[in-house]
Amino acid sequence: MAVPRLSSDRPVHPSVGGKAGPPLHYVTLREGEEQTDLATLQVAYDRAGKATRVQWQDPQPRDWDDRGVLWVRTEQNRDHAGRLWGKPKFSLMHAARQRETMQELRCSVCVGQPSRTREGYLFLLEPEDSPLEGRLTIQPPLCLPHALYGIDHCSYLLRTGWKLVRSRVPRLHGVVGGIVTLGPDGSPHLEPAVAGLDGRDLPIPYTRHKLLPWVVASQLVRRLTHVTPVNLDQELATARITHRAPRSPSSR
Ligand SMILES: [Zn+2]
Repeated sequence: MAVPRLSSDRPVHPSVGGKAGPPLHYVTLREGEEQTDLATLQVAYDRAGKATRVQWQDPQPRDWDDRGVLWVRTEQNRDHAGRLWGKPKFSLMHAARQRETMQELRCSVCVGQPSRTREGYLFLLEPEDSPLEGRLTIQPPLCLPHALYGIDHCSYLLRTGWKLVRSRVPRLHGVVGGIVTLGPDGSPHLEPAVAGLDGRDLPIPYTRHKLLPWVVASQLVRRLTHVTPVNLDQELATARITHRAPRSPSSR
């Protein structure tokens, strides 16, 4: 059964990678990491025979997040030491790894501590992202070296530009994902995420309590609050990092 698109193919940034040692983005999907067949989605019923939620065949507690939302199941290419392998598919994020880094506020490249100052966690946004306060994002935070690496080497960011911001309170907002509807015979059908006017998938907020049992999530969304733009030169001087590569004009 074909797997419908659950989320947009907007590039994961910074999409770093290469043959000679550059860091590979932890959240990037690798070739061969397949989603569980959607034909194994089932409807759960209560004792009165009322449909209550959607679940996977052979449901496991970890299928749901702590807000009760079901997540896609996707294989992970890991070797005996837990290292990821496989050719990166730079335009796509792995659902579980995106969720892990966004939930735990880890750097999306190295899974280490992201950069955090009094102004908050470091996030990389796109130039058209405005206003910054309250901005929704599916991009987990970054440590300073990996933010720098991305803006200097990622062809997508070099072409489009970027914005670095800090958020003191990046609140969990909701998920991007598909919504299950029931056919006349009660069988579940997964409708892909709906795109907004800007072409990005519309997030489903965690406040949509009645809808959540029918969502199959693929990305975790945070709302950036208490946001300040980053003065990169000042930050680099404070961190005593030398950064000589040319920068995108939109960063000034
Ligand atoms: Zn990092």
